Amino acid sequence: MFDKFNDECGVFGIFGHPEAANLAYLGLYALQHRGQESCGIVASDGTRLRAHKGMGLVADVFKRDSVFENLPGSNAIGHVRYSTAGGNDVKNCQPIMVDYARGSIAVAHNGNLVNAQEIRNELEHKGSIFSTVADTETIIHLLARAECDSLSDRVVEALERIKGAYSLVFLTETRMVAVRDPNGFRPLALGKLDGAYVVASETCAFDLIEAEFIREIEPGEMILVDKEGLKSFHPFKEVKPSPCIFEHIYFARPDSIIFGRNVYGVRKEFGRQLALEHPVEADVVVPIPDSGVPAAIGYAEESGIPFQLGLIRNHYVGRTFIEPQQSIRHFGVKIKLNPVREVIQGKRVVVIDDSIVRGTTARKIIKMIRNAGAKEVHVRISCPPTSYPCFYGIDTPTRKELISSSHTIEEINRYITSDTLGYLSQEGTLAAAGASVVGGTHFCDACFSGSYPVKFPRLKGDKQLGLF
Ligand code: AMP
Repeated sequence: MFDKFNDECGVFGIFGHPEAANLAYLGLYALQHRGQESCGIVASDGTRLRAHKGMGLVADVFKRDSVFENLPGSNAIGHVRYSTAGGNDVKNCQPIMVDYARGSIAVAHNGNLVNAQEIRNELEHKGSIFSTVADTETIIHLLARAECDSLSDRVVEALERIKGAYSLVFLTETRMVAVRDPNGFRPLALGKLDGAYVVASETCAFDLIEAEFIREIEPGEMILVDKEGLKSFHPFKEVKPSPCIFEHIYFARPDSIIFGRNVYGVRKEFGRQLALEHPVEADVVVPIPDSGVPAAIGYAEESGIPFQLGLIRNHYVGRTFIEPQQSIRHFGVKIKLNPVREVIQGKRVVVIDDSIVRGTTARKIIKMIRNAGAKEVHVRISCPPTSYPCFYGIDTPTRKELISSSHTIEEINRYITSDTLGYLSQEGTLAAAGASVVGGTHFCDACFSGSYPVKFPRLKGDKQLGLF
C-alpha cells in the first residue's frame, strides 16, 4: 500500500547555471513550508547524476559545504517532502534517481497519483521490483519500459497511464523536463536566471534567487530544456483545468503568485468577504498565526474592527516537534501559541483561521483565549467546511476525522466552545480566488464540495482506511 508520501511537496529545477546545486538549495529553502520531513537535490554535470538526500529540514540536510562539492554541474533538481504517516525512511526521499537501459534519470514530484497502486500491482505481477513506497516510483517504472526513442515521448507515454495530480521535474545527464498534469492541480512556475531556466512549485523560490518569473507552466504542458534551449508541448488530451483551491486557502506562501493570483491578495479577499457574510459586533480581530493572518487583515479592513496580534507564535516549533513526556503533554498548543493578555482581556474577540480540520486546534485555542480573559469569542473561518478528504495531494485525514463531515456548523460551534462560528461560503471563496462563471479559473474544490474532478479506482483496503 502506498503511503501518502508526495502530498504537499515542493519541487525545484534549474538548467544551465554554474551554481546549480547551490541555487537549488536556496530554492528549496524558500519552499520549506511545502514539506519539512525530508529533502534532496540531484545534480548533473552533463555526464553523470549525483544525489544528496536526507531526513529533516533543508538547512540541516545541506549544512556542510562538502555536500555541494559532491554535487557539481550546471543542472539540478530538488524536492522537499511532507509526510505524516511513518515516512521516516531515507529511501523514500526524493528526487528518486535510477539507472536504466538508457542512462540515468531523477524525478521530483508534488501531488498524489490516484491510480498508482493499480499500476504498481500490475507491474509487480509482471516482475517489477519496487524499492520505495512512493507513488512516484510508478512513473519511473513506466518510463523505463516505454518504447519511444526521445525522452519527451517516453515521459508522455508513461504519464498517459497516470491519473491524478502531478507537478513533476525530471533530470537526465543532459536534459530537464517539467510537467504539470492536465487538471493543473498543483502549481508550477517557470523562470529565468542569468540565461538559465528555472522551475519551482512557487514563485517565492524565484524571489530568493533573484530569478525572473516568466509564467506558470500551463495545465497539461510539458517543457523540455536542453542545450538547444526550451521547447513546450501540450501532449495530453485537454480537460477543464481544476487547480487546487486549498493552495490559496492554506498551503502556498502568501508572497507567491499561483494560478494567476498573488496568494496574499486572495487571502485578504477571503477575509473581506467573510466580514460581509458573517459580521459581528466585536472589539478586536485576532488571527491564528500564521495561516489566519492575511484573512484577518481583510476582515478587519472590511469590518472596521481593529486588527491585533492577540496570539504570538513560537517560530522555532517545527512540524517534527516531538512531545517530551506524557506528564507534560497537556501543554499541547501552548508550545506553539501564547495569548497577549493585554489585547484580549475583557474584549469581544473575532478569531480568524484559514480552516478547521478535526477541530482540535480551534477548541484548544479558544480555551486559551478565554483563559486570557476574553468576554466573547467569535470564530470566523476563511473557507467553507472541509467535509471531504483530498486525493490529489493535500494531506487531509479520513472522512471520519473531518469534523464537518459529520457535524453541523452549530454542533462544531458547540464543540470548539465559541460564541458564534461562521465559515466563508463556497461562492465567496471561489469568487475571491478569481473564479467566475465566464472566463475565470475553475478550481478543484472537492474538499468542500465532494465533487472530484479526476475519478479514482476504489481499491480493496480503502474502506478500512475510512476514506469514503
Ligand atoms: P485541526 O485541529 O485538525 O482542526 O487543524 C486545523 C489547523 O490545521 C488550522 O489552523 C489549519 O491552518 C491547519 N491545516 C489545515 N489544513 C492542513 C494541512 N493539510 N496540513 C497541515 N495543517 C493544516
